[in-house]
Amino acid sequence: MLSRFEVETGKKSEIVDITSEVKQHVAKSGVKAGLCVVWVPHTTAGVTVNENADPAVKRDMLMELGKLVPEDDGYHHSEGNSAGHLKSSLMGHSETLIIEGGALVLGTWQGIYFCEFDGPRRRNVLVKVLEG
Ligand code: ZN
Repeated sequence: MLSRFEVETGKKSEIVDITSEVKQHVAKSGVKAGLCVVWVPHTTAGVTVNENADPAVKRDMLMELGKLVPEDDGYHHSEGNSAGHLKSSLMGHSETLIIEGGALVLGTWQGIYFCEFDGPRRRNVLVKVLEG
């Protein structure tokens, strides 16, 4: 089963918790055991799994990514969003999650984060659920 949902971002760089949306799609699939692939089909956005208890973690991630990849650094790409492309590749575009007992297997403090690096925009997230 393949499904999708939209994420509307409000800032240039932003991390959005999409755990509940992904869980809804897994529940809707009816799959009790298998894999869930979360795919972000964008070149200036990504997806990652990290702590969802303290919002400061998201701020720290964005702060340090900003230090690793400055907004302006003599980039050659003429569109002006090279920093977004680089951060997108650093985060990656997919996460593979385990489904057991009809639910995602996540650690106590783990959440699934959509990562925006060239917003604000309306983005798509694809969720593929595989039984097995
Ligand atoms: Zn570009």
